[in-house]
Amino acid sequence: MSEYQIVIIGGGITGLSAAYYLYKTAKEQKTSVHITLLEEQQRLGGKIWTERWNGFVMEKGPDSFLERKASAKQLALDLGLEDQLVRNRTGQAYILHKGKLHPIPEGAVMGVPTQISPFIATRLFSISGKMRASLDLFLPRQSIEGDISVGEFFRRRLGNEVVDHLIEPLLSGIYAGNLDRLSLKATFPQFAQMEEKYRSLILGMKKTRPAKKLPGEEKGQFLTLKNGLSTLVEAIGKELPPETIHLGCKIKEIQRENHRYQLSCENGHTFLADAVIVTTPFPSLQKMMPSFTHPQPVQSVPATSVATVILGFDSQDVQIPYEGTGFVVPRTENTTITACTWTNKKWPHTTPEGKILMRCYVGRSGDEAIVDEPDEIILQRVRQDLAKVMHIEKEPLFYRVTRWHRSMPQYTVGHADWVKQLEETLHHHFPGLFFAGASYHGVGIPDCIDQGKRAVEEVLQYIHT
Ligand code: FAD
Repeated sequence: MSEYQIVIIGGGITGLSAAYYLYKTAKEQKTSVHITLLEEQQRLGGKIWTERWNGFVMEKGPDSFLERKASAKQLALDLGLEDQLVRNRTGQAYILHKGKLHPIPEGAVMGVPTQISPFIATRLFSISGKMRASLDLFLPRQSIEGDISVGEFFRRRLGNEVVDHLIEPLLSGIYAGNLDRLSLKATFPQFAQMEEKYRSLILGMKKTRPAKKLPGEEKGQFLTLKNGLSTLVEAIGKELPPETIHLGCKIKEIQRENHRYQLSCENGHTFLADAVIVTTPFPSLQKMMPSFTHPQPVQSVPATSVATVILGFDSQDVQIPYEGTGFVVPRTENTTITACTWTNKKWPHTTPEGKILMRCYVGRSGDEAIVDEPDEIILQRVRQDLAKVMHIEKEPLFYRVTRWHRSMPQYTVGHADWVKQLEETLHHHFPGLFFAGASYHGVGIPDCIDQGKRAVEEVLQYIHT
């Protein structure tokens, strides 16, 4: 029986989970495959990057995953990491409004109000803003042809104020995107379905959200691993045969020859493959296949750049006078930081006794220049904001700035149709070549793992036909 050569390009969580599940499934099915994973950098993990230092567990990229989307937890279980899973501490989240932190009104689910009194009491909106939002209870449903932006949808139902002061900073944080350009169909289709079914979002949310928990019963919705998300990466690395992974191998070209693929690496190595899974961001795929005339993405800005800024303090030097997990910042506020997590409160295992750990974000769609400033300038701007918002004047004990250039793919209006077209075109012209990852069907870690798994199914089906 011949051995199929399968090459996976990209060693982020999509490529790693594809390699792991392909190895596992092929072994179970007794299919003879030789897997090669090619990664441009000298380390695995892509956006996942934990630094462990002096008792701190610091995440330079993602810090956790949603438990509800099952595949990331399942991957941890499959890798035997059950005892390392940690759940986030729940707590009040805040929003910056006119320079002050306000609690997100109780009952606001992804920004949509579901309880009347906290919504009436909050100072986040003017009286007319609140009245406009309550019109959602009476407005008729509107059927959506094709796709519209998330902003357009929510502005129609709840008005501009609730969108600009609450929904925008909460939802666009996930994509560092502009709500008025983000595709409803590709990012939050559940809201359109809710309007379709219940007409009013407020009524729909009330009907569908889980029963209110008693104090003490609330459970965090996010999970991570006690030594950081890189634990997943390291565990997969150990499961795969040592010859699988090639670091420092940037693929510059993929060519189809005699029903197989030839992949050329910038370092001069070449690889032959019966099937290929490309898990890099879409712009890298474009560069690898210059002759492939694929449908153009709808967006003019393919991805947004952000930077994370981690700061450590002595707890005697800094007081956080808020019980909670952090805050987000609407575009309307005059700050550089777009969000701040009080990491030692949300994830106590990350921080040694007597210390405080915080993580701020800078950069968002249309406002990314800060990401290219030197570390010292970024730090200075973050410290100015923390002084203004939280009265933190003390210099941090240490800090880490991590830039993520063009890292947040923008799923703009029409994205889902573009991905479908891309799939069809590729399938037709390049049978045996598959793509997966954050540029396509979801940016969250579980979405990426799901895509890696789906690519494995496609590859196995392809080599068996
Ligand atoms: P990547 O991680 O980008 O991996 C792609 C890999 O391909 C990279 O390692 C790259 O070096 C390699 N590559 C590129 N070109 C080539 C080439 N030519 N040849 C060889 N290799 C190549 N998600 C969550 O669920 N929870 C969070 O808390 C969260 N927070 C985030 C915070 C930040 C700052 C960022 C940037 C993202 C966050 N996300 C979060 C999103 C999530 O981390 C990413 O969408 C996901 O990790 C992407 O995985 P991937 O494998 O698709 O891509």
